Amino acid sequence: MKVSARMEKLPPYLFLELDRIIEQQQAKGHDVINLGIGDPDQPTPEHIVNALKEAAARPANHRYPNYLGSPELRQAISYWYDTRFGVSLEPLAETVGLIGSKEGIAHLTWAMAGPGDVVIIPDPCYPVYFTQALLAGAEVYHLPLKPENNFLPNLGSIPDEVLRRATMLWVNYPNNPTGAIAPRDFYEDAVKLCRRHDILLCSDIAYAEIGFEGYHAPSALEIPHAKDIAIEFYSLSKPFNMTGWRIAAAVGNRLAVNALGTLKSNLDSGVFTAVQDSAVAALNSDPLSFFAQQNRLYETRRDIVMTSLKQIGIKIPAPLSTFYIWFPTPTGMSSSQASQYFVQEAKVVVAPGSSYGDWGEGWLRISLTCDTKRLEEAMARIQAAYQRLK
Ligand SMILES: *Cc1c(COP(=O)(O)O)cnc(C)c1O
Repeated sequence: MKVSARMEKLPPYLFLELDRIIEQQQAKGHDVINLGIGDPDQPTPEHIVNALKEAAARPANHRYPNYLGSPELRQAISYWYDTRFGVSLEPLAETVGLIGSKEGIAHLTWAMAGPGDVVIIPDPCYPVYFTQALLAGAEVYHLPLKPENNFLPNLGSIPDEVLRRATMLWVNYPNNPTGAIAPRDFYEDAVKLCRRHDILLCSDIAYAEIGFEGYHAPSALEIPHAKDIAIEFYSLSKPFNMTGWRIAAAVGNRLAVNALGTLKSNLDSGVFTAVQDSAVAALNSDPLSFFAQQNRLYETRRDIVMTSLKQIGIKIPAPLSTFYIWFPTPTGMSSSQASQYFVQEAKVVVAPGSSYGDWGEGWLRISLTCDTKRLEEAMARIQAAYQRLK
């Protein structure tokens, strides 16, 4: 049997070696704390779970779903964009339901890029942006995110030759893995650049509802004329503690939304309608107070990690959004050496920055989606492991 040559384009999976070491430690009976994965530890709100129970019992929901998302889901996402961002969307023409935004991000790439095209991605980034571009046979242009530029890319640095062939530009703020945020004028510049060069601006706002100290992230679609050139991914996963449910939407430019919908209707059959009904209940439930409560929890955890890093001597600004802390490795250690060191010496898993791109080398990511007491314990162990390095 022979797998497709295309598969060889996938970069080696960096967590593999780490997984092996974690298993080794657990086999020896060690209590390993995982701060590697970003997956909310708190439950989905009860009224959403109840909406699913009711919706699951309705026979009409047992049949194939509407492939592009139910009219009710697309109405609810439009209502939410209007309420939250002041952005008006035509539900049927400018929104499409997704089996989580990961699915939509992957398939949009297949709809928009192929051999001869360039996909411009931030580096480090959510790996799906580049793995799918490579599989689709497109070229990838890496835009470094550097601390001295607050982890915003320098859009002016992209060569004309790349801009000519580019079909997509990915931006992701609030940012995974760096925790950085983008000011409104960054989106203005991105919209201007993409309009000038006829590039689809792809905005991933998976963390838009997470904010500390009163911060509320904007949508790229708030910029005038953004819909001429931009599509945005809004996911229920992170804000509503619904990663397991697989529900999100892509909204904005109708040509791109339509291309994504057409591709999808040829390869999947949509999301279980009962899950779509639950998403409608979530979006229509006036969720701001739930977000605020959730954000207080993440902020408490953020402060625990920041205090601990400060005691170690690591000076970084506290992020205003996301549930990630992005910080440099101990002097002289690569990302992968450092994460292996912390598993071995502290029995704590932190994600190696290099798995998000070459510009993530020399960095580590801690996720705050871990029980608060366990997080405190993990940071105490990390601090002790730093002491042993001296
Ligand atoms: C978690 C995450 C996603 C995926 O979200 P789903 O809707 O659960 O597929 C997309 N983009 C970024 C940047 C993420 O961190």
